[in-house]
Amino acid sequence: MIYLKTYDENGNIQEQPMIDTEIFCNCPRCGKEIEISAEYWDFVGGNSDFDPFESAIYCDSCTADMNEMKEYITEHISASLDHAPSEELAKLLEFTQKYANI
Ligand SMILES: [Zn+2]
Repeated sequence: MIYLKTYDENGNIQEQPMIDTEIFCNCPRCGKEIEISAEYWDFVGGNSDFDPFESAIYCDSCTADMNEMKEYITEHISASLDHAPSEELAKLLEFTQKYANI
């Protein structure tokens, strides 16, 4: 259990589970404030790769936009790359990796 440790007026330790607290972040794309839900903690809880200091959470609107872009790329671009030279594919991969998480 991840918890916040605070002290009451008598100096007694109070442990408040993170799941019971209101925790927020800002969408890295548009800046909208997002409340981190209990479902999110359940989702990342068992993920050993999860790093709360490096992770980003996108708002629903930005997530929808990005999914739309991914669908467009999948539908319109991937088919045209079937016969592209490997050097061109390597350049494209290098370019798109910068945007893989947006
Ligand atoms: Zn956003």
